Amino acid sequence: MSDSIRNRKIVASTLNAASRFGNEIAVVTGLAKSTPIDPLKVVECESHFIVAHGDNFADAFDGRLEYDHPLFVLFYNTKYDHLWPHRGEHHPKVHFTIAHELGHYFLERHRRYLLKARQPHNSEAEFVADNFAEREADCFAAGLLMPETLLRPRVNKRPPSIPAIRNATGDYHVSFTSMLVRWIQLCDFPCAMACVQGGNIKWGFISEGFAQKRIFALKRATPLGSSDALEFYRQESALKAYREGSGWGITSQWFDSDHKGIEVNESYLVVPSTQQMLILLTASEDDLPEASDDD
Ligand SMILES: [Zn+2]
Repeated sequence: MSDSIRNRKIVASTLNAASRFGNEIAVVTGLAKSTPIDPLKVVECESHFIVAHGDNFADAFDGRLEYDHPLFVLFYNTKYDHLWPHRGEHHPKVHFTIAHELGHYFLERHRRYLLKARQPHNSEAEFVADNFAEREADCFAAGLLMPETLLRPRVNKRPPSIPAIRNATGDYHVSFTSMLVRWIQLCDFPCAMACVQGGNIKWGFISEGFAQKRIFALKRATPLGSSDALEFYRQESALKAYREGSGWGITSQWFDSDHKGIEVNESYLVVPSTQQMLILLTASEDDLPEASDDD
């Protein structure tokens, strides 16, 4: 196994650990019993240590966490409540931001940094930032808002599909992007998701079902290789309009793996608010080799 693949496996494992921690907080606070999960209830549970303030902070930040002795102060931007229609008090993006900031509060390394630096941390939440700490807080948020005990049975009922993933977003009060990430993290079927921006595969996740078949790393920072995906992307490469589509590719176009020519089904969806193209990648179990454990 090459160093770069080993490095990507470490990154994936660290991000999955952040999600498991978010899940654990939902469980120990008693919130993992029904959906949707309100992250402000977690702030209430921790009210001796952290307070939250929501306001329209325009374009300054999505969320901000700072340590103001003796409390952590969590600011969240409510501008999305005014911009986009939603059910309940806050738009899913606002909920996700609060959960993301809680990630910085609970994740030990992030908390230590905030206590030491005494500088506020500004966030751009929900799988748009490249910075590793932001991705880690995003994964914590996904675990907190979509706990494994509640979601896993639904995820593994049948092979993943865009309609099934979309149907679940309303119950959990989360965006399609967040649900797609969490779905892959909890899925036992061979599947993956990728995010494309600027014609390049930027980031993604691989299910345990794929990892067990030695398809363990998505090709990051590489141009789109699948001709069907490229054709869909080029139809409107600014990614400013909602679209869906589907096509086919092969494993070598998406993954670092010993298995290069296995067919993968590609489902595409454009998220105009973040100008991202999301791809759900699935493979038939029959086409994949038997699992091996020599890695
Ligand atoms: Zn952040």
